[in-house]
Amino acid sequence: MRVSQFPLNTLKETPADAEIVSHQLMLRAGYIRRLASGLYTWLPLGLRVLRRVENIVREEMDRAGGLEVLMPAIQPAELWQESGRWDFYGAELLRIKDRHERDFCYGPTHEEVITDLVRREIRSYRQLPVNYYQIQTKFRDERRPRFGVMRAREFLMKDAYSFHLDADSLGQTYQQMHDAYCRIFQRCGLDFRAVEADTGAIGGNASHEFHVLAASGEDAIAFSPGGFAANVELAPCPSAAAPTAPAQELQKIATPDVHTIAELAAFLDVPTERTVKTLVVAASDAVDADLVALVLRGDHELNDVKAEKHPWIAEPLRMAEAGEIRTAFGAEPGSLGPVDSPIPVLADHAVLAMADMVVGANEDGHHLTGVNWERDLPRPESADLRNITEGEPAPDGSGPLEIRRGIEVGHIFQLGDKYSEALGARVLDEDGREQIVTMGCYGIGVSRVVAAAIEQNSDERGICWPTAIAPFDIALCPIGAKKSQRVREAAEQLHDELQAAGFEVLLDDREQRPGVMFADMELIGIPHRIVIGERGLDAGELEYQARTAGEAEHLPMDGLVAALR
Ligand code: ATP
Ligand code: MG
Ligand code: MG
Ligand code: MG
Repeated sequence: MRVSQFPLNTLKETPADAEIVSHQLMLRAGYIRRLASGLYTWLPLGLRVLRRVENIVREEMDRAGGLEVLMPAIQPAELWQESGRWDFYGAELLRIKDRHERDFCYGPTHEEVITDLVRREIRSYRQLPVNYYQIQTKFRDERRPRFGVMRAREFLMKDAYSFHLDADSLGQTYQQMHDAYCRIFQRCGLDFRAVEADTGAIGGNASHEFHVLAASGEDAIAFSPGGFAANVELAPCPSAAAPTAPAQELQKIATPDVHTIAELAAFLDVPTERTVKTLVVAASDAVDADLVALVLRGDHELNDVKAEKHPWIAEPLRMAEAGEIRTAFGAEPGSLGPVDSPIPVLADHAVLAMADMVVGANEDGHHLTGVNWERDLPRPESADLRNITEGEPAPDGSGPLEIRRGIEVGHIFQLGDKYSEALGARVLDEDGREQIVTMGCYGIGVSRVVAAAIEQNSDERGICWPTAIAPFDIALCPIGAKKSQRVREAAEQLHDELQAAGFEVLLDDREQRPGVMFADMELIGIPHRIVIGERGLDAGELEYQARTAGEAEHLPMDGLVAALR
């Protein structure tokens, strides 16, 4: 490829509204352009990277036995009503009407659609297990779209859904997906950790998140060399005080000394008036707890049935209306809520530590009216990670613990029969009896991976792509090409040779000054650069520099291809 046919869209200035390095560099290097809040166009250069990540994901999913499908982005409301999520999902679900006033949504995820497919297509246990996946555009009306494609509203996700007759089979596929995810992120050249996400309310369910380590990550994760690894996210709701504190400070919040918002504010040295009152709604049913929290946050209306079930909500509602409650979390000690709940997955311990007040129903379902437990709520021992401090032994005895910030790039989950039960996805088992199938789901934020890779791989000059996902492998920079036909010809010839050898080459044929060419190629982040000039040609040499190397070296022209391999 030649720059004359592949215009670069690099910018000198760092766009003012881009907060983190990947967002800044993706704009500056001409990878993406913003259309509206959370909506981005991928320019040709950006799309090359996105496709490379996508291809790695596809190859590994195929290798792990996944079957690719492509489902519609637009989904009928009826399916979401059947699963109960039409009412539950909240404001992140973009609802639309067609010309006949029928309700649809733009899919933020596809459990309903795939379960509907399976209940129609799969009849017998002999057709199981099956693992369908797609790489497709999702829309989530994020409360706070930010960081470019990192937290966008429209983004590219690989989502997979597996179906099984029993839990053993689900466990096997879950492990295969876990391994496939490790291979995917390894191949992308990322430093990542698989961590336990909060364990589900449904017994035996497992969930893991895959985090790319980066200081700008929105989650806190803890891990030890002995294998303990968990998400210990401390401030999951972006509308909470959300002091975007450096990693160092957030680690320290995970000490028993900080229990209240006021203490947190003092600790982080942020003015108290900037912090908000945080309420934790505890209920015997995690779904209800999340729902009530949504209502308090103004994202949802409480219907009569729910109001009747939760008479104790009257007081918190009054407080929310009076502005006394600014943010609310749903929490049941030890529970998670649905995996794709718009309420962020809760580490209850952490949320409770932040709460000013806890309201809700006790375990046997007796409603306690406008209750102020003031942190007297018993905290589950096993899940209590509040005492996690860097350097100490992990809760499982292995240690020492390391606490880092992470970017969630993947999430796998054993769903069990939540959707198959609601939608009635059954198969005939060996004895000819009908059985509800059991299900797993597995997501990767393909477009988020691109941004996460930049968070880990950049310097003051620009992006330093891991070779597997770079838009081009080699930048060819001819020096003095304007005057020298010999240089022009040598560059063209080398371009063709390298292309033929299987490299993706970008030849800078703009006949610009070396400084301009080098700055652009470094900003873009192409892993290898070859400079061709008269002097080198005389000596039968080329100047070669890896993007991450401090200095250039001279390589003989003969045998260049072998040297680059
Ligand atoms: P987050 O906690 O960052 O909001 P999530 O837990 O809501 O993510 P999942 O429902 O687990 O996301 O979706 C699977 C994957 O999709 C995530 O692991 C993440 O990589 C990606 N993803 C989710 N939301 C976004 C978004 N707004 N922009 C880009 N990628 C996203
Ligand atoms: Mg989310
Ligand atoms: Mg998450
Ligand atoms: Mg997730």
